[in-house]
Amino acid sequence: MKFYKTGRKILRGLPHDGDLLGEIEKLARRENIKTGSVTVIGAVQKARVGYYDQETHEYLETGVEEPMEISSCLGNISLKDGEIFIHAHINLAARDGRVIGGHLAPGTRIFAAECLIEELMGVELERLPDQATGLSLWPIR
Ligand code: ZN
Repeated sequence: MKFYKTGRKILRGLPHDGDLLGEIEKLARRENIKTGSVTVIGAVQKARVGYYDQETHEYLETGVEEPMEISSCLGNISLKDGEIFIHAHINLAARDGRVIGGHLAPGTRIFAAECLIEELMGVELERLPDQATGLSLWPIR
């Protein structure tokens, strides 16, 4: 069992009109955070969310072409191909309370976003191709 200690905690606004996934990644890379967790609340102008088809091993993406609240966005930071990599999921709430969610994909445009990154100090986690799922996952130890 590997345990981590909490490192830095960074609470920061992300830029209006920025790409949500890209801006989280930029922040983590700028601060050189290789392992950690991410939470975001705020609002988006439009979004793209993914759903991983477990049979075809492909992401199906849905475009959300309306302003939505980020009711929850949770993710983690680890390494993939030696680079800092963000994996995040998002729930978005519409004006009438409808909720849509999924894997946070590029193309989600920020209206306003407040991001908390919590750095974890310990063994670096590297994502590797996983045969059973077709995903890049952390090795199970
Ligand atoms: Zn995902």
